[in-house]
Amino acid sequence: MVRGPSSFFLTFAPVKKTDTNMSLIVVGSMAFDAIETPFGKSDKIVGGAATYIAWSASNFYKPIKQISVVGGDFPKQELDDLHHRGVELEGVQVKKNEKSFFWSGKYHLDMNTRDTLETQLNVLANFEPVVPDSYQDCEFLMLGNLVPAVQMSVIEQLENRPKLVVMDTMNFWMEIAMPDLEKVLRKVDVLLVNDSEARQLSGQFSLVKAAKEIMKMGPKYLIIKKGEHGALLFHQDNVFFAPALPLEEVFDPTGAGDTFAGGFIGHIARTRDISFDNMKSAIIVGSAMASFCVEKFGTARLREITKADIDARIQQFKDLVNFEIELAAENL
Ligand code: AMP
Repeated sequence: MVRGPSSFFLTFAPVKKTDTNMSLIVVGSMAFDAIETPFGKSDKIVGGAATYIAWSASNFYKPIKQISVVGGDFPKQELDDLHHRGVELEGVQVKKNEKSFFWSGKYHLDMNTRDTLETQLNVLANFEPVVPDSYQDCEFLMLGNLVPAVQMSVIEQLENRPKLVVMDTMNFWMEIAMPDLEKVLRKVDVLLVNDSEARQLSGQFSLVKAAKEIMKMGPKYLIIKKGEHGALLFHQDNVFFAPALPLEEVFDPTGAGDTFAGGFIGHIARTRDISFDNMKSAIIVGSAMASFCVEKFGTARLREITKADIDARIQQFKDLVNFEIELAAENL
């Protein structure tokens, strides 16, 4: 469908579906990134929250209904590859005469913390998402990292509330759009943030106290990602911990959080079970997917892994935490 001379939506044949009655919408940035790690530097490569989420979630569930915006500079091949993978792109706007969102970041020696060097919003600055009719009746909504007002607009355009709304965000939006972020938080079921963002959002150092504060803001479930130290899932007074796989080499942690989110929502959509117990499995799946993402720059590793690779990695997670123990204390 053409929308004026400088902006249009993509048209592709519908992708093969897992189940015609279900649907998963993914919203988020599609971008160019430039990454520096202590071990290397990338040129401008394709990234963005929704890109990583889609590559990850499509291992578990199809079709992914993507909502995003890119500039005329975004490679058509990338969009074709995503489409072949089972990602519908009707909700992705292409602004022919504008530039795609650009982010650059530099990782510290620990590869767990990073500084944002530059954020150029470009097409994201005036993005007005349009939810296509074919995306309605969505059961699962994954709001990836993006302008909070855009996340809100997608929620408001949906005629029926999805069964589960999951949201990711970052410190950047806490700093420049906190009032809008608070409005979205009231509408979501699950929030994903990293540990420093949880502290920033809540004003609490203890992650347990931070979780309590954040759950008062709206989300009933909170996932706090701690990079190489795993992830915590909170719900009411329950806490569950998923480790991260100890890896010999980490090339590029960019997108690990989004890849985690993709594995999480992909598993939930596949199983259609939104119980706390199933969310425990979903964060293991998310952790397994994130462990692949960091093994190569950008989306490279996510593009090559197979179902057998994923199954083997999930088994490694099981082995990592599975042990038998006799109670050690004497019965005095
Ligand atoms: P992660 O490493 O999972 O936190 O996500 C990294 C991805 O987030 C990169 O590919 C960036 O393009 C994207 N990104 C960085 N900053 C923002 C932002 N302010 N809004 C949306 N996406 C962003």
